[in-house]
Amino acid sequence: METVCVPFQKKYTLCLSSQVGCAMKCSFCFTGTQGLTRSLEKKEIILQYLQAYAYIKEKFQGHQAAPNIVFMGQGEPLHNIDNVADAIEILKTKEGMGLGPRQITLSTAGYLPGIKRFSELGSVNFALSFHSPFNEERNELIPLNKAYPIDKLIDELKTIKLMKRQFLTFEYLIIRDLNHTKKHVEEIGRLLKGMPVIFNLIPFNEFPGAPYRRPEMAAVEEFKKGLIELGFHAMVRTTKGDDILAACGQLTSQDS
Ligand code: SF4
Repeated sequence: METVCVPFQKKYTLCLSSQVGCAMKCSFCFTGTQGLTRSLEKKEIILQYLQAYAYIKEKFQGHQAAPNIVFMGQGEPLHNIDNVADAIEILKTKEGMGLGPRQITLSTAGYLPGIKRFSELGSVNFALSFHSPFNEERNELIPLNKAYPIDKLIDELKTIKLMKRQFLTFEYLIIRDLNHTKKHVEEIGRLLKGMPVIFNLIPFNEFPGAPYRRPEMAAVEEFKKGLIELGFHAMVRTTKGDDILAACGQLTSQDS
């Protein structure tokens, strides 16, 4: 089980795991190469938060605000929704950590049965690993897409009730020579027309044996420009932690 502390401005965000390994086998993901060992219990999810928060307080003396959470560590959180929902509920209570729902983001590869239950998590932020608007490409990147194709996911996402100024985040891994052409921008415009989406663009982090390559930053900026011209918000995520295999899609259970 691995947890990552990500510094952002003067605050920390904790990237929590929901499972040991993952069953989804996304082709770009180091975690996906190890398969699913087991789902975490709610107490194990909460313990990751408490231990990481204690570490931050000890290492960086003085007051440290309660960190935000992203469920983007090992595992597909909606594939373990009962334990994740219980852990979130406890972390939100005054007796727990008193976190607000907007301090918590849950990221899914597109597990539709879990998305249908998303409202049970109570207004937390939603993020989708999107990566391509085309089913053929998405099938290769996220095999789960064969069971739950992108148009069905988008239909379901349109039913999620958002709070004022709340957006759906679409994570978009940018892979060299694969998924960031003009054709992709046009199809995204057609598919997501009118939806309140923020794109989080992530240049692919290469790992040992990775089947893909990191893109040129100029190509990433060009893709971002195309999305903004369509009226979407888009930002490029600064990679932190890729030197220790702790960046997005790189977590795996290694002996240390
Ligand atoms: S990207 Fe997420 S859902 Fe896909 S294999 Fe990795 S941990 Fe699982």
